[in-house]
Amino acid sequence: MCGIVGIVDAGGVSLPLYYALFALQHRGQESAGISTYDAGILHKHKEQGLVAEVFNREILTELTGKVGIGHVRYPTTGENQPENTQPLNFSFKGHVFSIVHNGNLVNSKELSSDYEDQGHIFATTTDTEVIAAIIARELTVSGSMEDAIILCMQKLEGSYSVIAMLDGTIYAFRDPLGIKPLCIGKTDSGYMVASESVAMDALGAIFIRDLKPGELVRIDSDGISYRQVTRSSHSAFCIFEYVYFARSDSVIDGVLVYDVRRKIGEMLHNEAPVNAEMISPVPDSGMAFATGYSEASGIPFKEGLIKNRYIGRTFIMPTQKLRENAVRMKLNPVRGHIKGKSVVLVDDSIVRGTTSRRIIELMREFGAREVHFRVGSPPITAPCYLGVDLPTRNDLIAHNRSPGEVCSCISADSLHHISLEALIKATGHSPEDLCCGCLTGCYPLRISGELSKCRDIDFVNGSYQTRLEL
Ligand code: AMP
Repeated sequence: MCGIVGIVDAGGVSLPLYYALFALQHRGQESAGISTYDAGILHKHKEQGLVAEVFNREILTELTGKVGIGHVRYPTTGENQPENTQPLNFSFKGHVFSIVHNGNLVNSKELSSDYEDQGHIFATTTDTEVIAAIIARELTVSGSMEDAIILCMQKLEGSYSVIAMLDGTIYAFRDPLGIKPLCIGKTDSGYMVASESVAMDALGAIFIRDLKPGELVRIDSDGISYRQVTRSSHSAFCIFEYVYFARSDSVIDGVLVYDVRRKIGEMLHNEAPVNAEMISPVPDSGMAFATGYSEASGIPFKEGLIKNRYIGRTFIMPTQKLRENAVRMKLNPVRGHIKGKSVVLVDDSIVRGTTSRRIIELMREFGAREVHFRVGSPPITAPCYLGVDLPTRNDLIAHNRSPGEVCSCISADSLHHISLEALIKATGHSPEDLCCGCLTGCYPLRISGELSKCRDIDFVNGSYQTRLEL
């Protein structure tokens, strides 16, 4: 999971890219980077840290040009190495080339080992470099960037929203199942592509639409053109974007994410009402869900926990002890609101159970009489292979535990997760068009040792079909 952006604008792109990355900061806090193209030269800057830490006025002044791309990287375990920061930048055969990617390939090992067998060496451990290597090779053979991308897409399996910049032209493409988001907007004097519509809002740009699954967009100073590379009978948009990832003020497929979350909150109340005195979100991710629960139940919405705004995400903490201490630093109960009260706490998800267990304990310490937990996603029981940083099965609290057992583990008075049917209904998508792998253990692509849904994907410009089996 990462945030990506690409802009072509006659007025210059470094500041707009910076603001867009700021708007996408929630999609990744590990590192940030920008590459711009100006008169045959690639200007680049990337570092580990938040957008505000990585860039300053001098750096942005040096990122000249009217075309550029940017990236914020999501903290994943194991690969927190400086060389994995993006954009990845290359020069070959007189071209300068830069690429950013949101997603995760499931066949990158096979692809990179084919390349290594032929003498290719890789400088990073990212699957993004594998995408770059394929594009560069196909471009060298065919001479056409669009053909190179189409051939590349035929080889990739997994989730990918990619923005590539070749010599001042931007190419953006989305995997055939549209697992990760990517949308297009109109800037003052150009166009942009970005992971979420909030990046367009930040620049005062006009949102045009989401890229379709399997679509390729080309943007240069002359304008924008679209090409539908693959057609699939289904898509598989990541349901976790609605639950947790996307900002609530983003619009996906014409629907405001906040409204989806509020609807989930309403449905949570319908499925599991509680006779409580207040509804409190677990900030910030539980906010919209709690609003819906409160509206549907008529029970007052009141903040039972206040979040320290200046603390990063607790997930970055490598050990359980650190994660537990971090929860204490991050969320503080409001004694005056909760003392003697029966409280419904609403959060988006439970992963390891660290946050919920700790905050329920804190709520009781601060005097809450009863703490009922309501969750905006069904139990997460399986890992994600397609880009969301979730632990392996053994570390998921809901794996091999009934909701009753999880309720005792987190010491709640009651626990209810939204049903999968209600969650899907709230998104407005058909179940066929969503990836719910982390909730069902059944994935939209073939993944070794896992169940997968059967889907055929035809390439309009080729004969490729994915081999998906149940
Ligand atoms: P846990 O404490 O392990 O149960 O994690 C649950 C908390 O982490 C919830 O408050 C979520 O908002 C947040 N969360 C859920 N999924 C993720 C993720 N993939 N990366 C970072 N934070 C997450």
